Amino acid sequence: MLVTGKELLLDAQKNKYAVGAFNINNMEIVQAIVSAAEELDSPVIIQASQGGLKYAGVEYIAALGKLAGRNSRVPIALHLDHGTDFDQVMQCIRHGFTSVMIDGSRFPLEENIAFTKRVVEIAHAVGVTVEAELGKIGGTEDHITVSEKDATFTDPEEARRFAEETGVDYLAIAVGTAHGVYKGEPKLDYDRISEIREVVDIPLVLHGSSGVPTESLQKAIPLGICKINIDTDIRAAFANAVGDFVRANPDEIDPRKILSPATAAMKEKIMEKMHIFGSVGKAWK
Ligand SMILES: [Zn+2]
Repeated sequence: MLVTGKELLLDAQKNKYAVGAFNINNMEIVQAIVSAAEELDSPVIIQASQGGLKYAGVEYIAALGKLAGRNSRVPIALHLDHGTDFDQVMQCIRHGFTSVMIDGSRFPLEENIAFTKRVVEIAHAVGVTVEAELGKIGGTEDHITVSEKDATFTDPEEARRFAEETGVDYLAIAVGTAHGVYKGEPKLDYDRISEIREVVDIPLVLHGSSGVPTESLQKAIPLGICKINIDTDIRAAFANAVGDFVRANPDEIDPRKILSPATAAMKEKIMEKMHIFGSVGKAWK
């Protein structure tokens, strides 16, 4: 069933686990995610990034996501990842997304508040819940790049004010993760997560979580991280499986045969994440 992000994340917050948010670009990724969630009885968020929307188009993505939600026996939210502008967010809402992120992290605080608040008011009016970002998460995600020197950690007091004034439902914070592939091991600022959680009572979101050690994630979840975004690890599972298959079967031309091992590899990776996040068995309907 298709639900809002807020419904999933409030349960996660209450019961101290995190819901995985996995990026989708095509049917096989959606199938891998849904199949993993159903097998493990886990809630899940399927999300589309800027690159995903550009690649497949909002209508295909929305149709895939809504169908997945409608046919599934686990709760699924269809989420826009890093929405950059007002019009795009409205378009996704119109096409049936149940959750949207508006990323105003490039703006100074006051502007980010005003920008986010405008989206929150309209989204809430039609029953869609909203994620925003405060602080700047480094790295590259599709077309958005934030250099290491421009990445800034989230300030707890600013987070308190931001959550209060915008009415946002969940908040992405910058606490040491980055988008893309890590060069060294990422170090999470646990004290900062706790300090933010003390003054902000909405679910917190961790971006750039592929490649973050399991122990780090499991330490961050009880501190208030309720949504964990994973993209890079799934891409790697997909690409490796396709590469292996094509090398082993150079004459195979059937896309179904080429892609089936990739779907299975992505599913396995997603199930591994669900175990780490503690969302297994948490589907509440
Ligand atoms: Zn992100």
